[in-house]
Amino acid sequence: MTATKKTHRITLIAGDGIGPEVSGAVVKILEAAGAATGVAFDWHPYDAGANAFEKTGEYIPKVLYDSIEKNRVALKGPVTTPVGGGFASINVTLRKKFELFANFRPVKNLPGLKTKYPGLDLVIVRENMEDLYAGLEHEVVPGVVQALKIITEKGSTRIAKFAFDYARKHGRKKIHAIHKANIMKLSDGLFLRCCQTVAKDFPEIAYHEHIVDNTCMQLVMNPYQYDILLTENLYGDILSDLCSAFVGGLGLVPGANLGTECAIFEAVHGSAPDIAGKDMANPTALLQSAVLMLHHIDEPATAERVQAGLEQVYREGKTLTKDVGGTSGTKAFADAVVEAMEAPVAAA
Ligand code: NAD
Repeated sequence: MTATKKTHRITLIAGDGIGPEVSGAVVKILEAAGAATGVAFDWHPYDAGANAFEKTGEYIPKVLYDSIEKNRVALKGPVTTPVGGGFASINVTLRKKFELFANFRPVKNLPGLKTKYPGLDLVIVRENMEDLYAGLEHEVVPGVVQALKIITEKGSTRIAKFAFDYARKHGRKKIHAIHKANIMKLSDGLFLRCCQTVAKDFPEIAYHEHIVDNTCMQLVMNPYQYDILLTENLYGDILSDLCSAFVGGLGLVPGANLGTECAIFEAVHGSAPDIAGKDMANPTALLQSAVLMLHHIDEPATAERVQAGLEQVYREGKTLTKDVGGTSGTKAFADAVVEAMEAPVAAA
């Protein structure tokens, strides 16, 4: 075993629904990968949402805020948000509190998993703090409710810059700004103008604009035409779930909420109450979010070990969860990844 070179303090929000199952699996895999690569994790676990409220009377306890502020990195399972009432989304609240303005979601096939669109590799860059997610809703008069869509020059420029910087750094060739500026002329119009201005500084990257409804059709017909989708908050949320279906579903697609000070890594999927507590959840999406986290904390060897083990399990196809056509449970899948990391086999 390699001597421990560094201990990383990481805030861990297991979440609810399938959250504790998928985060338990991910922690187990990261511990095994860390032990083999000389990296230790000091997990700081906290509840959020209804679980936290039961215990502390707060949906996001102050100690959780303090922990993220101090550690600057969190791994987060999904948290249920009540529909049509109740407390505000924990996810949205955390993103706003820590100014996590960029939501980065890579959509990529795993080896061995048959999908309708093999070899897909696209990235969704979603503005993470504005739009209708600002949570500004009020009843004007009974029977009439108003929700405010907030789009700012600062927010739009910042997310566009993030997308173009990412493209330049990673050799991506094309960015599509996704909008509905034909209808929302002022708000989406501003978003587009900011994207156009930023695009001028990146002449080597092809810049296009597509209307969001057409984008949905284009994606299903031919997702390969896209490289990076640059979007506002709501369109990005919807397009993420759509695109996850191209590579095998919500059990697979990871995400990172990035700001200038802190980062929270979480899957695209939610708390999946329909399968919670049944050892059925696929931890791949959170595991791939953890791989993004390992790169973020500059532990590429650990990240590559986890990714290699994960890909080997998919390549073999013997221990997969039900959502991707297998018969194994969450725990057996995690054990298989740990085993694969210990006995890596060269890619076919
Ligand atoms: P969902 O993503 O929880 O589930 C949608 C479908 O995908 C379900 O059939 C579910 O079983 C399946 N699925 C999701 N993740 C899976 C996994 N890892 N393995 C296998 N199957 C998986 O979406 P929903 O049902 O619309 O939302 C449930 C709750 O989650 C809501 O309260 C919502 O607000 C919340 N939510 C939270 C987050 C977050 O914490 N970041 C994100 C999205 C939704």
